[in-house]
Amino acid sequence: MIIQTPNFPPVPCPCEICERPAEFQPLGNKAEISCRTCGKYEIEVGTRIPDDLRPYLSAATRQANERDRTLAITRENLAEIAEAHLRTSMGERLNKILALIAARVKHPGGSPVTLNSAQDYPLADAYNRDEFQCYLNHLREQELVTGEAVTNEYGVIARYVPTMKGWQHCEPTRSPGGEPGRCFIASWLDDQVDEPYNNGVDPAVRECGYTPVWMKNVPENKGMTDRIISEVRRAEFIVADLTGQRPNVYFEAGLARGLGREVIWCCRADNVDGPDGLHFDIRHLGHVVWHDSAELRMKLADSIRANIVRKS
Ligand SMILES: [Zn+2]
Repeated sequence: MIIQTPNFPPVPCPCEICERPAEFQPLGNKAEISCRTCGKYEIEVGTRIPDDLRPYLSAATRQANERDRTLAITRENLAEIAEAHLRTSMGERLNKILALIAARVKHPGGSPVTLNSAQDYPLADAYNRDEFQCYLNHLREQELVTGEAVTNEYGVIARYVPTMKGWQHCEPTRSPGGEPGRCFIASWLDDQVDEPYNNGVDPAVRECGYTPVWMKNVPENKGMTDRIISEVRRAEFIVADLTGQRPNVYFEAGLARGLGREVIWCCRADNVDGPDGLHFDIRHLGHVVWHDSAELRMKLADSIRANIVRKS
């Protein structure tokens, strides 16, 4: 006799994050929730979400969906997941909406994107629809977007496209010095970082429109230090991964800072805490903490867009 696992249809239930109507599907000790505001996510049964983190978890799950990822929320990881969306600056939030509109419209002359403030506020790390509406209004007042907007009791429904000024605003900043589009990767050169480099760092840098330069892929041994210095000089910005705590990474990042380049810090989670963890003064710079290459790829791409792309 073949025993088939019952395939439960989704049932209506309040969203675990935003508490609006959603659909629930049991998955062992987890549930899969589909919500118009938070998107689709998995959550461990019995996870209690603090009220002040709700909007920022909505931001994390919804923005992950935009990148074809489904987040799995547990008691242990929810604070860290929310954290990445809690402290974004107003400039970053405006840029997120403008970048989203540009990504969906695809090219100048493309069809307008419809945004519904009551459902789409997590896309901009906004606390609620009112904050999101302020950003939409500002983008329009600054003539970065154009189109129609209708206000009703549920909020604003906008059909917008970027203006040419908006499209130009979405282009990466050319910071002084360095060759536009080059990104130097400072990291441990041990074999155990090959996988996170190949599946995390490399695709994240490329999807943001930059070319990564990693010394492990540079076929040259002679005069390596000179080559490193010249590559850091040529880079527009650098990504420094502190996993393994290698002195060369601190040296290359310090050199880059001295040359006025932005540095995006990354570190594998198990290297952050404990007596051998990160040096104290680095802990304040908002670095990318990652558990696996998929998370590294998503968080690093977010950080590049937030820190390297032109700020308003
Ligand atoms: Zn929700």
